[in-house]
Amino acid sequence: MAYLSTTLKAVSPFSPFVKKHNPNTHTQLFYIQTRRSVIHKEQMFVAVHGVPVPVESSWRLPLSDVVVVRKKSAFLERSWNSRDVRKLVRVVGVHLLSLLAPFHFNWSAFKLCLWLSVIIGICITLSYHRNLSHRSFNLPKWLEYLFAYGGVLAFQGVATVARLHATFLVNSVCHIWGTRAWNTPDFSKNNWWVAILTLGDGWHNNHHAFQFSARHGLEWWQLDVTWCLIRFLEATGLATNVKLPTEAQKKRMALI
Ligand SMILES: [Zn+2]
Ligand SMILES: [Zn+2]
Repeated sequence: MAYLSTTLKAVSPFSPFVKKHNPNTHTQLFYIQTRRSVIHKEQMFVAVHGVPVPVESSWRLPLSDVVVVRKKSAFLERSWNSRDVRKLVRVVGVHLLSLLAPFHFNWSAFKLCLWLSVIIGICITLSYHRNLSHRSFNLPKWLEYLFAYGGVLAFQGVATVARLHATFLVNSVCHIWGTRAWNTPDFSKNNWWVAILTLGDGWHNNHHAFQFSARHGLEWWQLDVTWCLIRFLEATGLATNVKLPTEAQKKRMALI
């Protein structure tokens, strides 16, 4: 099903949304400050890229100011391509395989799973995300390849499912629950418990504001294990050109 998240909350210092009164229709327009969408609460349709899309229903997510709007064009009704099918088979497959885990449980396997989960997590956040996707810092080629191969492990073994969900949490939970410090035109939030599970990537509002930054936990109290490792690599001379937001950039993006 296709969803569009928006908020019906009035102006808040931690929200990128503004509430506008329409003097012609005497209705409230909840306007998102991007070109993406405008929601008209009373008539229940959403304009996406200027095209009105009818809405079936909407509901507020618990403990969050995000309201999910369900559009009529459902996700399952769209035409699937082979990539979608491959993805589905992979995701369902690893989950089914993980169901076998309790039948083969032993403590050494459990410890290995925990270790693998942390190692894979570091390789995903440090290599795939911050080093390869955002080029937040440079590594010598041998080390870049080593971390990237570690990331490939994410497709192997029971630990895979745990890490898969931890990664998914960033794109789901961190767009619903948490706090905002930066004026980004989206729903990204900083979520401390996702930051623990994802070794720092849960500071997602920070990341949306400064995507180039090697450090996601920008405050001293925002635990970011991956950043600690990058700092260590920088101190040893292995990581170079480590990018961080400047004070001027922070000032420009600050909400207050
Ligand atoms: Zn990113
Ligand atoms: Zn995001």
